[in-house]
Amino acid sequence: MDLGISGKRALVCAASKGLGRACALALAAEGVEVSIVARGREALEATARELEKVGAGRTAVTMVSADITTLEGRAAALAACPQPDILINNAGGPPPGDFRDWNRDDWLKALDANMLAPIELIKATIDGMIERKFGRIVSITSAAVKAPIDVLGLSNGARSGLTGFVAGLARPSAKHNVTINNLLPGFFATDRMHTVITGQAKTRGVSYEQALAERIATIPVARVGDPAEFGAACAWLCSAQAGFITGQNWLLDGGAYPGTF
Ligand code: NAP
Repeated sequence: MDLGISGKRALVCAASKGLGRACALALAAEGVEVSIVARGREALEATARELEKVGAGRTAVTMVSADITTLEGRAAALAACPQPDILINNAGGPPPGDFRDWNRDDWLKALDANMLAPIELIKATIDGMIERKFGRIVSITSAAVKAPIDVLGLSNGARSGLTGFVAGLARPSAKHNVTINNLLPGFFATDRMHTVITGQAKTRGVSYEQALAERIATIPVARVGDPAEFGAACAWLCSAQAGFITGQNWLLDGGAYPGTF
């Protein structure tokens, strides 16, 4: 299927690794001009080279080494891609812990990364999308928005705030062919997930393999997600064909969430 987005411009945040990178790769494969943002230069450069390969001369790639949770970082990202047609919001997730230990600064960091940065980027880009009559905004949140995980209180809270905000904004912009949706990853094979399983194995005194097997046992498809599957879903949600879908929270979790809705 031709997704009808060749030549569009995308700003993909937190995209040198993992799910953001997978989204950038899937968009570049469709001929989208991709600007990727991450802090570390080395992984950013490696991903930019891969994007150029995947785009096979049909697409331009720019990279921005910046912290997307800061005002300066967002300014640098927007300077590289001032008028995106596609915005993929993403940042690192907050650390796990006990809410009794978190102070105001911990909460502000989580809110900056997983709620306020996406809202600021939407604010900076949505009016151009409305004028051009095409926009696709996708925020990477978490399955924890639907099924909260007790130790991830910072993530549960901040991401739910973004989800509520987006639900209100998605309707008035829809008539301009600007859609706003969220993708909720379950358990995907990325560096972050490797770190999470390593931590769980250590805490519980079991091997990495055992901790991973126990986690997989909770997923009906009986495996972890491939970031490429996530990227493909994201690219489709950004397609011309997906213009009738907005304000949705799309769970990609191999069936782990047990509810009917
Ligand atoms: P990952 O593999 O660790 O990759 C994170 C990417 O984000 C890297 O490119 C990293 O590069 C970049 N990044 C992090 N903080 C940044 C910042 N402040 N500014 C700019 N770039 C930043 O993580 P992932 O698994 O893809 O996860 C992506 C998001 O999905 C996270 O919020 C995570 O909590 C959420 N999530 C993931 C899963 C999963 O199964 N993987 C499940 C639920 C939720 P630099 O560090 O160099 O900046």
